[in-house]
Amino acid sequence: MRLGILGGGQLAWMLAQSAEPLGVSVAVLDPSPDCAAGRIADHVVAAYDDPAGLDEVSKGADVVTYEFENVPAAAVTRLAEHGMPVLPFPASLTITQDRAREKELMSGLGIKVAPYALIDSADDAAAALEAVGAPGILKTRRLGYDGKGQVRVKSADDLPAAIAELGGTDLIYEGLIAFTRELSVVVARGTDGSLAVYPPVENEHRDGILACTLAPAPDLSAEHAEAAQAIGVAVAEALDHIGVLCVELFDTAEGIVANEIAPRVHNSGHWSIEGAVTSQFENHVRGVLGLPLGDPSVRGVAAMVNIVGTEPDLAALLAIPGASVHTYGKAPRTGRKLAHVTLVADSAEALAVPLAQARVLCDAAWDA
Ligand code: AMP
Repeated sequence: MRLGILGGGQLAWMLAQSAEPLGVSVAVLDPSPDCAAGRIADHVVAAYDDPAGLDEVSKGADVVTYEFENVPAAAVTRLAEHGMPVLPFPASLTITQDRAREKELMSGLGIKVAPYALIDSADDAAAALEAVGAPGILKTRRLGYDGKGQVRVKSADDLPAAIAELGGTDLIYEGLIAFTRELSVVVARGTDGSLAVYPPVENEHRDGILACTLAPAPDLSAEHAEAAQAIGVAVAEALDHIGVLCVELFDTAEGIVANEIAPRVHNSGHWSIEGAVTSQFENHVRGVLGLPLGDPSVRGVAAMVNIVGTEPDLAALLAIPGASVHTYGKAPRTGRKLAHVTLVADSAEALAVPLAQARVLCDAAWDA
């Protein structure tokens, strides 16, 4: 079997790694000549909407999938015109490309989301404040990631300046959720509607970027864990999503509140390569190719630490007992994810020391 992937970054690289033992060959489309996945997959160097590039990446493929949600609509149209199945289906993209449609979908499913108001001009500020209040967060509806395209609004007076800063239109203003921690849930769904639901995990961010994931989320009540998983399943089913998706969540005293949906494998699921019976990457490959899904159960407890900004100290990381290091081969840059380390243990107690060691190295790379 053969899989085409739009995007050739580290997510595609790990998808290609998990495809290989299944005998599935991979081609990626990525304009960057030195993208991570290009090291192990056939690499078409072209823009995402380049018709010849799209034809090339899909040549001989059973299905084309993607590693990021901002796939141009023109790309999906071109592939569809040539009879090439694209999974997840386009609805997963069109809804998750827009924070407003995402929130609308989830509220419609009875999932709690932050109060929000849409802002299409400076004139909408007063009504948004009336509906949502302050403090809040103003976000661009589209193309935001890792905390980019958002501004904190401390008081009502700050909103007009924030609107101007983010371009004045196509914005969403959200009320601030008082969360105790951030969680996420990863769900894989097969072409036959079968499901593999990973345990909800706890995520810690730094500068708006994921720093550390604990799997499963420590001390999560059965009620909140079930609610988080039910949200993931409801979203996957409502989108008729095939493959993996992730829903980012807030854990609050009043229950679970959903923040946003990623229609793809997610950084908060990287732990599953070593920490789950079947990883999110393999389950995505299995799902989109119509193969049976694997077991998402965690093997003991796992933690994933991101290395961001500067090259990891490889020797120091490998000196941590049990550390599995994944280095993406990308040029260092402030705020850029360059590698991650996964630790797996039988108990949280056994994980504590190696995790603390990994976190020190992660912080050092971030601060350098
Ligand atoms: P997002 O791009 O929506 O994932 O937001 C980035 C980060 O900002 C989240 O991981 C949260 O830490 C924080 N955040 C976003 N929206 C809210 C909200 N409505 N209330 C509180 N914190 C938020």
